Amino acid sequence: MTTLRSSSLPMLAVSPLWEPGETSDNAKAGTARHRALALHYAGDDSALFGLDDDEAEAIKWAADQVKLLAPIHNFPVEFEKPLSITLPDFSDIRGTADVVCGPVILDLKWRIRRYDEQLASYALGLLQSNPDLGLVRVHLLFGAHQKIQSLEFDLDSAEEMVWRTVQNAREAKECRPSQYCSWCKIRYRCPIYTSRALTVAAGRDDWPPPNNFHASQLDDPNELAKALRLARLLAPWCESVEHHALEAALKRGLVPTGYELKQTKGKQWVNNAAQAFPLAGLTQPDFLACCDVRLNSSKQYPDKVGIIDLFAKQNRMKRAPARRELLAALAPVISTGNGGMKLKESKTNEIDETENTEGD
Ligand code: SF4
Repeated sequence: MTTLRSSSLPMLAVSPLWEPGETSDNAKAGTARHRALALHYAGDDSALFGLDDDEAEAIKWAADQVKLLAPIHNFPVEFEKPLSITLPDFSDIRGTADVVCGPVILDLKWRIRRYDEQLASYALGLLQSNPDLGLVRVHLLFGAHQKIQSLEFDLDSAEEMVWRTVQNAREAKECRPSQYCSWCKIRYRCPIYTSRALTVAAGRDDWPPPNNFHASQLDDPNELAKALRLARLLAPWCESVEHHALEAALKRGLVPTGYELKQTKGKQWVNNAAQAFPLAGLTQPDFLACCDVRLNSSKQYPDKVGIIDLFAKQNRMKRAPARRELLAALAPVISTGNGGMKLKESKTNEIDETENTEGD
């Protein structure tokens, strides 16, 4: 039996067959924030510099909460405290609480979600190693919202919540899809998860689904073709859903449940190189090293004009001869990137619809 992690419990509570997968970018960002919190609390702000502004603000806020909510004058403050939990059947759960100070645990999360089972396991670990504490108070610090959720556990309530979650997961015959599916290791062979792709593709008789959804296990050319077709059908569908969901939120106030409209920072660029040069105060070679010369005008952004179109306009030429002449003139300074390979569908492409039962 593999040792469970406390951090898996919130997922198992809603999707009992969930399996931990590879470390996600979110998890790596969480680890960086935890490290920054411990360092900042100790007076070292070096780890804040690698964070976004809102993350750095959240870390400072979290450190203030540690000072306010933990009994720091009576107990030592321990960061990244490993906790080991023993279940009634003597199996183990391992976890690491962000901050432990006597009978108080503080855990820094980013977005508001339900973490009760994970926190119960931390409380259980602390109470099992120190039964005299009697009651453990856990403060969940949601950094993105700067909000606090507080829970209390004694030995019985903590064990009941953790044990119930573990037993339900062990006994489950079926899973329930949730927001955690996209972090689940077995999602590509999970019929519930892959049925979402099948549902989208169901309206297209000409897009047969592959027998296997795990990309690295597709090793039959016919199955690869089915999966590739499905992927290319789903990609624009996904973009279209993103587009229409944003439109609905912006224009009709229909914000999808569980989402919020958030302002994003626009990308910055210099829109006038001639004016920027004296303002930057750089030497000409240094300044020009920062500049790119576009050959073609952008179809998406008409203000990004390419040098070929400018040359054609200035010399009153059609674009094709202007392009030939300009490229010949610029030949000493034209670079060509390494071409790549792409899969282009052939006109006579026929997928063999015969079921591939090998390995079933
Ligand atoms: S992908 Fe499947 S097994 Fe994994 S959590 Fe979702 S429903 Fe459960």
